[in-house]
Amino acid sequence: MNSDIEKASQLVAAASSIVAFTGAGISAESGIPTYRGAGGLWTEYDPAKYANIDYFLADPAYYWRFFKEVRYPALIAAKPNRAHLAIAELEAKGQLRAVITQNIDGLHGEAGSKNIIELHGNTRKIGCLDCDADYGITEVYDRLEQALPPPCPSCGGRLKPRVVFFGESLPAGAMENAALAASECDLLLVVGSTLEVYPAASLPGIAKQNGANVIIVNVGQTALDHLADIRIDAKAGEVLSQITGS
Ligand code: NAD
Ligand code: ZN
Repeated sequence: MNSDIEKASQLVAAASSIVAFTGAGISAESGIPTYRGAGGLWTEYDPAKYANIDYFLADPAYYWRFFKEVRYPALIAAKPNRAHLAIAELEAKGQLRAVITQNIDGLHGEAGSKNIIELHGNTRKIGCLDCDADYGITEVYDRLEQALPPPCPSCGGRLKPRVVFFGESLPAGAMENAALAASECDLLLVVGSTLEVYPAASLPGIAKQNGANVIIVNVGQTALDHLADIRIDAKAGEVLSQITGS
């Protein structure tokens, strides 16, 4: 075993209140591309359009076509990988207190994690902007043949995935909960994020200031490598289970 992985596994073994913080990189091995870094996303759909609230409200059909052709098929095919499972196992063993994620793919929940702080929401959940009803993605997908954009089945209003688009604020309390968890943990385990997007990128500093160790597992450099006690440049699915001992 490489010595950094061994040191990281010792820190994990000694920790009793771990918080994981994950970004798009943890889901790359589940077949969901990242925006930045190796294998970054490029499709004919432009995130500046399909993930922007003003654009969405002006032309919701653009988003729903993207959902039908790209997002839904990718989500249905994606399964949690060994890294998601290793994090869920740490929680089941009582060592991990929360997983904070920037991802919207819902894969931590699929892996069995319970205490999940989803900073940017979850694409598997669809809500009505007008009556606030909730729907599952398959239920909505099945209606796209009839109408695009799909109307809310109960009030005829506008459906939108429960995710944070550019131009929207984070869900109430999400960042506060994340900062609190980071300030109280004894080990912050960062997986698959460039740590470039604020306010989420403030979490390693908060953990460090409060005396926690910080481990960063990421392919390629991050903006906060200098804060890490241990920095592992490797694929999460390949190394995380060695680090967590699962
Ligand atoms: P990012 O896309 O900025 O960076 C991801 C990092 O992960 C890159 O440095 C990349 O090299 C690295 N990486 C790639 N494969 C990896 C692997 N197998 N193991 C470990 N690291 C790997 O990530 P971000 O900062 O989380 O994304 C920016 C925003 O885009 C976030 O807010 C996120 O919500 C959103 N996003 C979400 C998803 C998703 O839900 N799966 C996918 C793409 C983007
Ligand atoms: Zn409605």
